[in-house]
Amino acid sequence: MAVPASTPATTPVTVVTGGSRGIGAATCLRLAADGHHLALGYVHDTVAAEATAAKVRAAGGRCVTVRVDTSEEADVDRLFDRARAELGTVTGLVNNAGVTGPLGRLADARTEDLRRVLDVNLLGYLLCCRRAARDMAASGGGAIVNVSSAAATLGAPGDYVHYAASKAGTDALTVGLSKELGADGIRVNAVAPGIIDTDMHAAMGDPDRAARSGPGIPLGRPGRPGEVAAAIAWLLSADASYTTGTVLRVSGGR
Ligand code: NAP
Repeated sequence: MAVPASTPATTPVTVVTGGSRGIGAATCLRLAADGHHLALGYVHDTVAAEATAAKVRAAGGRCVTVRVDTSEEADVDRLFDRARAELGTVTGLVNNAGVTGPLGRLADARTEDLRRVLDVNLLGYLLCCRRAARDMAASGGGAIVNVSSAAATLGAPGDYVHYAASKAGTDALTVGLSKELGADGIRVNAVAPGIIDTDMHAAMGDPDRAARSGPGIPLGRPGRPGEVAAAIAWLLSADASYTTGTVLRVSGGR
């Protein structure tokens, strides 16, 4: 949905991939409350994307929804082009769109599922970071937050070691890119959530996974999407002005 461009230069304009549902949707709502205008990327669920966008607008933010597959270079360019054309200079990126494929051991995994996870979680993050780096360097700076996972260090044996590997790649991307872009005034950080109560668990074939997880977590419960959104919002904010290259674990101690 298009909105007219008249954003003051001082208003943060943030691209959130996977903003229709789960952690991305909570992030859109939190950032709207913090005064951001938003370009919300999603891949399939137009109803969910428009529902989240309506809540952003009700909170006073401007929001453009753009249907994209972040593993496609042309789609990523279209997302950033729409953000700039309709909201103004992009100052933030939340690289959040991610998939796991079905739960199971690597020995049983299908090649197409491994390829899709790497395409979306790693190539997609790289494409979005590259476009943000180009735009933000040209416009004087910005901030990127990559949504990683506690799986990057836990390894997720029996569940999805390929997904864990893609998230370990996210952490390396975050550290390396923060060093490349510091001189351009661009901060690059990551959050690493533990088990968060979203649709992702149903998509991987275990809808009750978050509800069952409490006993294995020091804080005794799964996380809520808004608790990850709060960490993302802080990393994007001026309060985090000297923070770059860090991976902030938001996992209830796991
Ligand atoms: P979710 O509820 O399943 O939502 C996934 C979001 O990503 C949706 O908005 C979906 O769009 C979008 N998406 C998926 N593939 C895409 C693609 N190729 N291009 C563009 N958008 C795409 O997931 P979530 O739990 O909020 O997870 C968000 C991030 O947190 C992911 O990177 C995930 O790995 C990470 N994470 C989650 C957990 C957890 O326990 N939930 C833990 C650690 C890390 P549609 O609505 O259109 O399908």
